[in-house]
Order: sequence, then structure tokens, then C-alpha cells
Amino acid sequence: MTHIITSLCVREGSCVTVCPVECIVPGIPQEEWPTFYIDPETCIDCGACIPQCPFHAIFPEDDVPEYYIALGGEVQSASQGTPGFDQPYDDFEYEGNPVHLDHTRVLEPDQEIDLTQDIQPNYDYFSEGPGYSAVM
Ligand code: SF4
Repeated sequence: MTHIITSLCVREGSCVTVCPVECIVPGIPQEEWPTFYIDPETCIDCGACIPQCPFHAIFPEDDVPEYYIALGGEVQSASQGTPGFDQPYDDFEYEGNPVHLDHTRVLEPDQEIDLTQDIQPNYDYFSEGPGYSAVM
């Protein structure tokens, strides 16, 4: 198993500071890989990143919700070209540097979304995406 950073991630990044095996990386290029990703081969499932995320974006792989019911106001990000994700997002990451995302949407209260679709991209990032070289 591994832990998964879902599309509720808006690149705040403080999860990186608590990971004991340094297996969390920001997706690059951001337009294609909009969130942070966890190297599944290195993650030891310690769970330290879960409470660190202010956006509650991280789950153990087996607990990623297929039916996530939004509280309302959560920002969900997607890669460039994903239909319905046409709102820009601006905030600051944990060190105070600006974060800008071009492809997000804001969830409505009780909106149901499937976050399990975020599992495979996490694996893909390291098997065929830029993360392969990032962790070598
Ligand atoms: Fe790192 Fe632990 Fe989170 Fe895995 S569960 S990404 S080892 S902090």
C-alpha cells in the first residue's frame, strides 16, 4: 500500500516537511501534474502527512473515498484541459511563497466526487511521469 494525495491538494506543501523518507514531491510540469505525489515504492505508510495537510487531501490508499461528500468550499484541481476545471486559484504555500493554479473548481456543499480516480495518477507519476527521474 501507499498513501495518496488526492485532487483536493492545492500544493500547500507542508506534507513534505514531515515525511520521514522524503517521498513526497511536487508535480512537474504543474499543468500536467497539478498536485503533489507520493512515491509508492518509498512510502512507509507512517501516516504523518495526513494531519499535516490543511486541506485534508491525503488518505491511505485503501481509504481514498469513492464517494466523497463535500463540505462545500473545497478546491479541487485538475490537469490542463479537464472539463469543468476552469477557475484560477491563488494562495500561499507553507513557506509563504505564492501558489497559482489555473485549473480548479470549488466544490458545492454535499457535492459528491470520486477521489479514487486520483490513485492511478500517483503511480503513473513515478512509473512513467517526471517523478521517475525525480526520485532516482
Ligand atoms: Fe511520507 Fe509517511 Fe506520508 Fe508515506 S505516509 S508519504 S512515508 S509521511
